[in-house]
Amino acid sequence: MSAAHAGPVSESVSHARGPVSESESHARRARRAAYLESASSIRDALGGDSGSWRVRDVADGNLNSVFLVDGPNGGVCVKQALPFVRVAGESWPLDINRAFFEASYAARVAPDVGGLAPALHHYDPDHFVIVMEKLEPHVILWKGLIAGQRFPRAPAHVAEYVAQAAFHTSDLAIPFERKFADVALFAKNVALQRITVDLVFTDPYVEVWRNKVTPPLEAWAAALRSDNALKSTVACLRLAYLNKPQSLLHGDLHSCSVMVTADDTRVIDGEFAWYGPTGFDVGNFLAHYVMAWYAQSNHPGSRDDHDAFRAAIAADIANFWLTFRRRFLEIWRDSESTGDGVPASHFADAAGRARLEAFRHSYLKAIFRDAVGFMAIKIIRRIVGFAQIADFLAIDDEARRAEAEAGALAFARSLLLQPDRFAEIESVVAALPTFEAAGLDPNKSRAPR
Ligand code: ADP
Ligand code: MG
Repeated sequence: MSAAHAGPVSESVSHARGPVSESESHARRARRAAYLESASSIRDALGGDSGSWRVRDVADGNLNSVFLVDGPNGGVCVKQALPFVRVAGESWPLDINRAFFEASYAARVAPDVGGLAPALHHYDPDHFVIVMEKLEPHVILWKGLIAGQRFPRAPAHVAEYVAQAAFHTSDLAIPFERKFADVALFAKNVALQRITVDLVFTDPYVEVWRNKVTPPLEAWAAALRSDNALKSTVACLRLAYLNKPQSLLHGDLHSCSVMVTADDTRVIDGEFAWYGPTGFDVGNFLAHYVMAWYAQSNHPGSRDDHDAFRAAIAADIANFWLTFRRRFLEIWRDSESTGDGVPASHFADAAGRARLEAFRHSYLKAIFRDAVGFMAIKIIRRIVGFAQIADFLAIDDEARRAEAEAGALAFARSLLLQPDRFAEIESVVAALPTFEAAGLDPNKSRAPR
């Protein structure tokens, strides 16, 4: 894996190896300018010549290089996959074809999600580069949330995105020949699924070097590792992730994969795309709002500020699910179903139509049940697994951080062990405060089974 493989856009090889000399840095900049100028999709969007372009490195994600490039006529976002994990460097190789899957995912859902994602201008398969619409002045949703900002329109927008993408890639909407062509395509996105399977579904329940746990939470981590009932539920969910190709998933859909302004919402970063259970994306998005709820009271600000923020987050959680559910049902009712899953001809008369409506409701109930489980798994992996989230890390006081995390873990454990208590979003929201003071002893907060 040579530096040349890092391609002409990226500076990240030098970052991985430490400071670069002036001349190296200059050479890379020249190489990057030459590349940007050689791509007609970029040249046309920017105008002028490359000497007048402004290039900004905005990579704050874990995996890839991302640049914003501005010229006299406009700007673009240029994202390049490297043959390794950007934050880890060359010691952690990662299949560079993830850029192909991200571009394929963006192209597949674009007709249905419309303006809820950045427009994809171009994919360069030789350099693993995606050129897309530059989003500015958008910010990453979690950065806004963690700063205490409100984005009340974002949950409904993301719900619309997930409903559209999930419905139109499922057996409810498309013939199985088309669906399985996509299943086959995204089934090759295995390198990133290995990350999900290991980091989300496996590592949090065993002792692995890369797990990071706030020290006072060791008893909680041990309790999760030794809970066979809980691990059985986790096994059901990992099996569903692997053997239930219900719809095309974004695969990493949480508040770090959403860019917002007060009015506009865009979902980015679909490189984990995969055919799986629809509830996976739904639960992932909910999980990060739940963690924002548990983390917030430990941030600076008055008690009233915290209460107001939490009330808003709780409303966002309900709004997200209820909008998803309503829109999925509406899209289904309005569709000229060409899917092979539920033939309209079977339900043509009045009694059939009533039965079909009941069927739709039970379909959504099943998605919710899956989502509750995946939400729990996503919470657990962020607290006792590898990739911790800033919501909790921002709490400097270790004891307070552990208390906040313990509340979220107790909540997640209850979702996994007592799913019947959480058949409606209202019960999920109502349960948030009941686990807040769960504390550091996992046995004390255990609810009777
Ligand atoms: P990674 O796959 O490495 O996680 P992301 O796709 O999350 O990369 O992008 C990393 C960062 O780049 C985002 O957090 C965001 O700040 C910025 N970014 C990504 N796409 C765009 C875009 N279309 N317009 C503006 N900024 C973007
Ligand atoms: Mg990413």
